Amino acid sequence: MTTSYKETLHKGYGQAFDVEEVLFEQQTDSWHLIIFRNTTYGTVMALDGIIQTTERDEFVYHEMLTHVPIMAHGSAKRVLIIGGGDGGILREVCKHQSVEHVTQVEIDQAVIDMCKEYLPNHSNGAFDDPRADIVIADGIEYVHETDEKFDVIISDCTDPVGPGEVLFSSRFYEGCKKLLNEGGVFVAQNGVPFLQQDEVITTRRRLSPYFKDQAFYRAAVPTYIGGDMTLAWGSDDESLRQIALSELQSRYEQSGIKTRFYNPQMHKGCFGLPQYLLDALEQA
Ligand code: SAM
Repeated sequence: MTTSYKETLHKGYGQAFDVEEVLFEQQTDSWHLIIFRNTTYGTVMALDGIIQTTERDEFVYHEMLTHVPIMAHGSAKRVLIIGGGDGGILREVCKHQSVEHVTQVEIDQAVIDMCKEYLPNHSNGAFDDPRADIVIADGIEYVHETDEKFDVIISDCTDPVGPGEVLFSSRFYEGCKKLLNEGGVFVAQNGVPFLQQDEVITTRRRLSPYFKDQAFYRAAVPTYIGGDMTLAWGSDDESLRQIALSELQSRYEQSGIKTRFYNPQMHKGCFGLPQYLLDALEQA
C-alpha cells in the first residue's frame, strides 16, 4: 500500500508525494529525517516536513547557487560552502577547473554519509576531490574561527529553523564578509518569496550592512513550491552583476562545463525581480 508524504512547511497548503519505498528514516528528539522513492521525482530527502532536495530537480538549485557567483567573479580560486551536506553544491564547484581549493563546512556528518549512500548522484564523487576539504562544524563558529580567505562563499543550508537559523543571522554574515577576498561574492539560499517574503526582507536588513551591493536572484526549483526561489547575493563590486552577456558566454565556453539549467542567458536574466518583491524590499 503506497503511503504519502505531505510537506508541512506552509500553513494550510502543501505538496504531497507518494512514498513508493522508504530508503532511510531517522526520528530523533530533535528531528525527523526521511529519504524515500517517488515515481515523479526519484529519491527525495525531507527534514521535519520540509523537502530538502530531490534527485530529479536538484540540478536547478545547485547549478544556479554555484555558477552565477563563480562565473560572475571570473577568477575564483578558493570557495567556501556552508552546509550542503547532500554534496550537490560541491559537485558543481568541482566542475570549475579554475577552482584550486574548496572547503565545505557541514554540521552533521550523518547527512553526508546518508546522501552518499541514498543520493549518490548529488555528490557524484565530489567528496573525494583532492581539492575538497570537508570540515564537520557549525558554520557560524567556523566563519568566526578560521583565518582562511575565499573568493566565493555559498551558504546552502536548511530553512531558518533549528540549526540552520544561525546561518541567517547578522553575526554569520559579518563572519562571511571577513573571510572574503577583494572582489569576493557571498550567496545563500533564501526561500520562496511568494510564500516566505519575510525571509527576503530579513536578509536585506541583515546582509546590506556588510556589502555595498546586496541583491537577490531567482531560480525556479519545482519542489520548492510557490514560484521562484530567491537566492541572496552580497559583494562590494556592483559591476559583478552587470557583466555583458558576451563575456558570460565566453567564460561559460572557456569553463567547458556541461549544465542543464544554468546558461549565460539565465544568468543575465535571473537578477530581474517581480514588482511585488521590489516594492516589499523598498520597505526593508
Ligand atoms: N537545498 C536544501 C534547501 O535549500 O533547503 C538544503 C541543502 S542541505 C540538505 C542543508 C544542509 O545544511 C544540511 O546538510 C544541514 O545539515 C546543513 N546545516 C544546517 N545548519 C547548519 C549549520 N549551522 N552549519 C553547517 N551546516 C548546517
